[in-house]
Amino acid sequence: MTDPAMRQILLTPGPLTTSDTVKQAMLADWGSRSPAFIEMTARVRARLAALAGGTDSHVCVPVQGSGTFAVEAALGTLVPRDGGKALVLVNGAYCRRIARILALIGRAHSVYETAEDTPPDADEIARRLAADPAITHVVAVHCETTSGILNPLADIAATVAAGGRRLIVDSMSGFGALPLDLAALPCEAVIASANKCLEGVPGVGFALIEKAALEAAAGNAHALSLDLHDQWQYMERTGQWRFTPPCHVIAALDRALDELDEEGGVAARGARYQRNCDVLRAGLREMGFKLFLGDNLQAPIIVTVRMPGDARFDFDALYRRLFERGVVLYPGAVTQEPSFRIGCIGRIFEADIERALGEIGSAVAAMGLNAAGLKPAG
Ligand SMILES: *Cc1c(COP(=O)(O)O)cnc(C)c1O
Repeated sequence: MTDPAMRQILLTPGPLTTSDTVKQAMLADWGSRSPAFIEMTARVRARLAALAGGTDSHVCVPVQGSGTFAVEAALGTLVPRDGGKALVLVNGAYCRRIARILALIGRAHSVYETAEDTPPDADEIARRLAADPAITHVVAVHCETTSGILNPLADIAATVAAGGRRLIVDSMSGFGALPLDLAALPCEAVIASANKCLEGVPGVGFALIEKAALEAAAGNAHALSLDLHDQWQYMERTGQWRFTPPCHVIAALDRALDELDEEGGVAARGARYQRNCDVLRAGLREMGFKLFLGDNLQAPIIVTVRMPGDARFDFDALYRRLFERGVVLYPGAVTQEPSFRIGCIGRIFEADIERALGEIGSAVAAMGLNAAGLKPAG
């Protein structure tokens, strides 16, 4: 058993390490239809839209559940069953999940897939849009958390707009740390959740949706609980959520947004993660690990490490050793080739990364490997 009071350093793709004060913000009960909670909901929605420069253009519609619930809700609400078709840009598991959702909810779609270490090419997107006039929407993932690759959102958005189509972006793993300006980026919807770079706790996702698109989306949704048009209409009318809201999660998010402001906003948070990422990558390289992405493609969110080929390297032993010391890695690979991932985000700082690197170094040494042993032969 781990000591529940011990601070856990979660170096994962989420949920993440949160501050004590964010956790303390949950130590109250709220009447879900009380004036205090109505006010909190309105405040959080406005703050989320403002973070992305969408106050005048976009509406924040929150939805109960993990991030995938918000993705599924936004796709079902915005891509019409009749006459809608999405082109999904795939270079990892989260984009593949988007294609799977579209298939399950019966939305026409096609896929443009590139390798997991390769961003989509804007000219190829333009070609595909020109070749298929049925496509109404392009769906892209901002930072593909599978590998940590930063997809070229500005180029994608410009290409989609030039082709006269609508863009839906899953910015789950970057929202709050990667710059995103809806005043400059032509984008119908951005989807994210509380428990990644916003450093809240899991339980709520949200979409920032262009007002006109949301107004036009009545009746599209495939599921009552995932109907963002209905959720929005009800919230506008009553200030309340349609169904039981995750009150504690919203209170924690409200506090987490205070802490984002106190830190200096999105740019400052992104800079802290960038330092974490730089220190992590340098330390891993020094130990002889091979990184999946080059520096030019790496978002400061999560680092994918190629599984060392030496038979003495035992990832499970590494995982357990770090876990016993309060450092939690993600126990499974999602890339197509063997790898593991180490996150840079959440309420963690350079000193935490240094500590994790020290533990990784000890674990590797305990396997009888040194820096030379980790380097691929030849
Ligand atoms: C985390 C994440 C999601 C949502 O995952 P959940 O486990 O449902 O919270 C979706 N897309 C991306 C890119 C993510 O990183």
